[in-house]
Amino acid sequence: MIQAKGMAAYQAKSPLQPYTFERRDPKEYDVVIDIKYCGICHSDIHMTRDEWGFESSFPMVPGHEIAGVVRAVGNRVSKYQVGDRVGVGCMVDACRTCAHCEKNLEQYCLSGSNWTYGSMERDGSAVTQGGYSNAIVVTEDFVFRIPDSLALDKAAPLLCAGITLYSPLNHWRAGPGKKVGILGLGGLGHMGVKLARAMGAEVYVLSHSDRKREDALKMGAHHFLSTNNTGVFKEFSNSFDLIINTVSSAELEMSNYFSLLKLDATLVSVGAPDKPLSISPSPLIGMRRNYAGSLIGSVKETQEMLDFCGKYEITPEIEVIAPSQVNEAYERVMKSDVRYRFVLDMSKLLET
Ligand code: NAP
Ligand code: ZN
Repeated sequence: MIQAKGMAAYQAKSPLQPYTFERRDPKEYDVVIDIKYCGICHSDIHMTRDEWGFESSFPMVPGHEIAGVVRAVGNRVSKYQVGDRVGVGCMVDACRTCAHCEKNLEQYCLSGSNWTYGSMERDGSAVTQGGYSNAIVVTEDFVFRIPDSLALDKAAPLLCAGITLYSPLNHWRAGPGKKVGILGLGGLGHMGVKLARAMGAEVYVLSHSDRKREDALKMGAHHFLSTNNTGVFKEFSNSFDLIINTVSSAELEMSNYFSLLKLDATLVSVGAPDKPLSISPSPLIGMRRNYAGSLIGSVKETQEMLDFCGKYEITPEIEVIAPSQVNEAYERVMKSDVRYRFVLDMSKLLET
């Protein structure tokens, strides 16, 4: 077995603490990765606090925005070599044979994808543990190549925040001539701004205060709307082609946001609050509008997104911290006080 060290929640809502555990020895198609950086996603907070009611097992090592370097490979691995710069996102496997997996949509695997942490390994042998650690062992088909133009610390958040916005922007065809709203300017939202801008859309940020206006415009948004000024809902009604909701809280008056959509336009929720959103169908009915959801992105799409970001040098705004600062970082994320993604530097793990 491979000895690993990380930061774990020993039980729901408890602060993360140092944790020593074992990873499996690499099987024939496995890649052993020395983790260099791991982003902090708001989902890590929902999960370690058990806010989604999954009754997950603890101790839990969170983290699914993983960037590192290949340490070793199994004897049948063909895609990677020792020393390659690689990433791992939210999934470590899927059945690979169901109708969805066959269509390259492993995140919607009909028998359940195997999530990077708080899930089971495909063979049922162990609970998965994530990237707030110094090493991980993953089957090569769920490992991604990080383009040389991307620094590893900046590449890490692309593995969840990047792909979770790239996939719906791509699916609902954000591009020239489309007015796209990004609701919530956090880790996911700020990647949405950069990606939608690079795809050629006209980008609006909808944020619940005025505090992030300057940042949003610097990131490439064409316009910034502060939604605490309710006049914006009237002013911009029936004008958006697509809105992506990245907000982590259920405290949203959804009818207001639906009213911003044009006829037949779509609002996609990617934000996954711990409480249900309250929705009235009236504003959907009245203008044949659509309300949809979207979950991360597929393996194929994730590599495509990394290559797209590599080509156009699209990277997140990050604050790199030591693993010992993770609990403080969680508090700041919960207060929307992150500009715009915390990334853990695993070389500092031994200091914890
Ligand atoms: P984050 O960095 O905390 O950003 C969330 C943003 O939501 C905040 O920056 C804030 O933006 C806004 N917000 C927070 N509280 C609010 C409130 N009370 N009212 C209105 N707006 C509020 O979180 P994240 O990492 O981007 O994740 C966002 C959500 O997406 C989480 O629920 C996460 O679990 C989920 N997620 C889903 C997927 C998926 O595949 N669907 C993948 C990853 C994460 P403003 O200050 O600009 O308003
Ligand atoms: Zn995530």
